[in-house]
Amino acid sequence: MTDEQLLRYSRHILLNELGIEGQERILATHVLVIGAGGLGSPAALYLASAGIGKITLVDDDSVDFTNLQRQILHTQARVGMAKAESGRQALQAINPEIAIVPLPQRLAGEVLAAQVASADLVLDCTDNFATRHAINRACVQHKKPLVSGAAIRFDGQISVYDLRRADAPCYHCLFPEAADVEEMRCAVMGVFAPLTGIIGTMQAAEALKLAAGIGESLAGRLLLLDALSMEWRSVRFGKDPACAVCGTGGS
Ligand SMILES: [Zn+2]
Repeated sequence: MTDEQLLRYSRHILLNELGIEGQERILATHVLVIGAGGLGSPAALYLASAGIGKITLVDDDSVDFTNLQRQILHTQARVGMAKAESGRQALQAINPEIAIVPLPQRLAGEVLAAQVASADLVLDCTDNFATRHAINRACVQHKKPLVSGAAIRFDGQISVYDLRRADAPCYHCLFPEAADVEEMRCAVMGVFAPLTGIIGTMQAAEALKLAAGIGESLAGRLLLLDALSMEWRSVRFGKDPACAVCGTGGS
């Protein structure tokens, strides 16, 4: 680590659990952040400030005036710009020494699989079930830890699927794909601005712990937040042996 890095990350290095070794592991980690919206904004900001060595930031959308209420990567001056590029500018301004790769496209199929394969861990900061299941399948296939968050209205949830382990449940074990599932999106349902900040920041915390190899992750636990009463619930879950994605019946 350079003198400047020792200074920049000094408040991490002071943590006994983290130290220089943990920070070095963070610096050597490549995180794929899918979605540069309400969840991806705070998540990516903390990953960048904390020194994740490489961040690939994926979003096929451009900054809209209605995003500014919660998507804190973006500014009014950048309305109309691709979110991936707007995010790159925000992250690079905080930490010019890390690598940020903006991908202004919707990841699917082979491209999604290749991006997941090249990353050390994946943050799902998207807002629709089809993409969530596609990301989960790629993470199961390439055995990558997946940190998944969601926020709608006043309801938030977060979990970790540590797919490096054969006995780990995947997203599909917990939320099986159903044809009649009702899609709830911020565009029509509304979302409380700081709720996305709370969940996105927790995704960054779990990602940094996984990168540094410290603590105990949320693997096997789903945290649910009701921001109106500010009450958390923790639900334990296990692998579904019959899961079509990660079970013995799957691919
Ligand atoms: Zn599964």
